Amino acid sequence: MPSFRLLLASALTGLSALCALSATVLHAQAATAGKLRPARTASAIPTPASVLGWEPGADRKLPSWKQVTDYFTALDKASPRVSVRTLGKTTLGRPFLVAFFADEATLAHLPKYQKIQQELWDPRLRKRTRDELIAQGKNVILITSSIHSTEVGGFLTPFVIADKLARGDTPEARSILANTIVMLVPSQNPDGVDIVGDWYRRTLDTPAEGSTPPALYHFYSGHDNNRDWYAFSLKETRYTVDSLYTPWVPQIVNDVHQQGGNAGRIFIPPYMDPLEPNIDPILTASTNALGMAMSWRLIQDGKTGVATNAAYDQWSPARQYSLNHRGARILTETASARLATAVNMPFALLGAGRGYEAKTQSWNHPALWPWPGGRWGIGDIVAYQSSATWALLVEAARDRTAWLSSYATLAERALDDTHPWTPTEVPAQFVISKAQKDPVALQRLVWTLQHGQVEVHESVPAGSYVVPTKQPFGAYAKALLEAQAYPNLEEYPGGPPKRPYDVTAHTLPLLFGVAVTAEKSPSVQLGALVPPMAEPTYPTPALGNARIAIYQSYSASMDEGWTRWVFDANKVPFTSLKDAELRAGNLRAKYDAIVLPDQAANQLARGLAAPYADSLRGGIGANGAAALKAFVEGGGTVLAFNEASDYAIDVFALPVTDALRGLKSSDFYAPGSLFRVDLNAASPLTATFTAPTPAVWFEESPAFTITDPSRATAVLQYPASGSALLSGWLLGAPRLNGTAAMVDVRVGQGHVVLYGFRPQYRSQTNATWPLIWSAIARSAVRQ
Ligand SMILES: [Zn+2]
Repeated sequence: MPSFRLLLASALTGLSALCALSATVLHAQAATAGKLRPARTASAIPTPASVLGWEPGADRKLPSWKQVTDYFTALDKASPRVSVRTLGKTTLGRPFLVAFFADEATLAHLPKYQKIQQELWDPRLRKRTRDELIAQGKNVILITSSIHSTEVGGFLTPFVIADKLARGDTPEARSILANTIVMLVPSQNPDGVDIVGDWYRRTLDTPAEGSTPPALYHFYSGHDNNRDWYAFSLKETRYTVDSLYTPWVPQIVNDVHQQGGNAGRIFIPPYMDPLEPNIDPILTASTNALGMAMSWRLIQDGKTGVATNAAYDQWSPARQYSLNHRGARILTETASARLATAVNMPFALLGAGRGYEAKTQSWNHPALWPWPGGRWGIGDIVAYQSSATWALLVEAARDRTAWLSSYATLAERALDDTHPWTPTEVPAQFVISKAQKDPVALQRLVWTLQHGQVEVHESVPAGSYVVPTKQPFGAYAKALLEAQAYPNLEEYPGGPPKRPYDVTAHTLPLLFGVAVTAEKSPSVQLGALVPPMAEPTYPTPALGNARIAIYQSYSASMDEGWTRWVFDANKVPFTSLKDAELRAGNLRAKYDAIVLPDQAANQLARGLAAPYADSLRGGIGANGAAALKAFVEGGGTVLAFNEASDYAIDVFALPVTDALRGLKSSDFYAPGSLFRVDLNAASPLTATFTAPTPAVWFEESPAFTITDPSRATAVLQYPASGSALLSGWLLGAPRLNGTAAMVDVRVGQGHVVLYGFRPQYRSQTNATWPLIWSAIARSAVRQ
């Protein structure tokens, strides 16, 4: 078996391989160069191995969050090039860290450089000339690692980068420290470092080694935690936005991820189409240029399997805060193993990535030889990730002036009337009346815009909020306030629709249920800036002391987590109902309402299988299904969200069919869109609905046809004719005509309520929350 050191050395071929060098050697290099102060020689600076007890990238080794914080704390004490700050406590109470890296002179004067940034990104604040600012400024880079906690290379790559910056004395390291300010977030989800790490260590040497934990790795969002970059519902998002993005507005962001293991070894931008149309093309071009330069460097260093223009698009602001805030966004996606356990991936099993073929060369996967297959482990992942991040830093340092010049231009043209957008396409302002039926949703809308650095004004005369588009982040405001028209992309001419990487709509007024009008001319006079809005506090809905359970599968559902977020935010108490309790039955004695969050029917029914332990296997199963039937027949209410509706239709033998079941994507397609619905005013479930334009979040959703109207009632219906599309993408619109989006079915003494949409989508659909509360409130009424 090759030693780890050999693997690491080979993995780091072409880099300076600093972490493989002894502290003594480094000390000698540093002393020769005379760059480090005698009081803080390199030998005094801790190595990752001195804290971890092993090298980053060692097989089957993952750090605990305490080890991560111990290392960065020690680095902060020892190195004048490092300044570590705690930005707050995570959702589960762990410290959330950022480490600043720059040369000593820069780090000692961070407020001065922050001021230069501000003058660069907001020309209204400039006290110095553009040329002076560019000459004096630094290229500010934010690196966020391991937001996705099963992408475990991201736990370790920050150690490698930190070590190279703190102890390195190569020309590249010196150039980075002199020309940039690096803000390194070692994990965007510290809780997940321990949730996944603890599971991994607990299952080592068992059949479950390398498997995904049977729980969400972010308490509320799981993998969706990187889809929160305009809603800011998670504490961790807010720390990075409030403490790093807002004060610094970095020029470049590097988001370190992993992808599946059977195609390319790493993805680096350019992204695929489509582009969110409000992103300044300077940022698309600079992201493309930087990505290609990184790819060039990796290939030069001997890395194979480097793919660009593949898989990942540039559409949803949910994932790309920086592109909407003046920063190039470099997403890297490195091939995965089984957590920190190596896999053998034979060349014959390598497949097609989206946009390239892993076995052959192409312009965006150039190779004299593609990756040859074979062993792939955590050392390889860390080597690719750290090589890519290092290449980014080297480029950013070398081209500091070009980056700052580009950044200054972005700022100037955001305020420029001669911007290439034509005036007819861009409203001069968005006007939001204060007379909204849901004042908390209105507050949330203003809070959300302000949190993304959008300036919101009072109107003159008073009575409305006004968002002018000519302001530093006006294009971002426009993206969130307008309806999206997602392009009709096909895999090939005449072929099936080309799947977007994420969803296609992000229209806040429809999600929140707030009326907003776009004004072509600046017809409303601007008053004072609205001071920062508090966080919305939601009034607890009147639920008549209903006893509520939310089903929690071991095959963890992100939607279940978001459901808990909404219940917690509204201070609605509930019990998490797991398989053992569900299967044991007698549910009616304990609960009035049971929520089945969005999850595929077969996952709900069968749950996990091998290699998980028996106690985690089997899902709801036959006993659980029988218990749910007895619960409803005894007077309980089951709320089935989105795909769980298909499960409920089958289990309860409901007089309802899914009109979309089995359709091909070429016949019907809507991958995350907002649809117009009509309310059934006679249903008690719509009594508290207030949104001015009733809209539901449709994503891999069913649409219902009622087969026995004596037992089932349509609560929400799609239009009888015409397209239901309000924002996003919809193919096959006629398939929805006349179907129901929400159905209330009488079963025995109880009810099953089918939601053919996600009523609590990623915490954002304030508009449809009342449809949850109304069904629960009715469940508490003894009948
Ligand atoms: Zn990821």
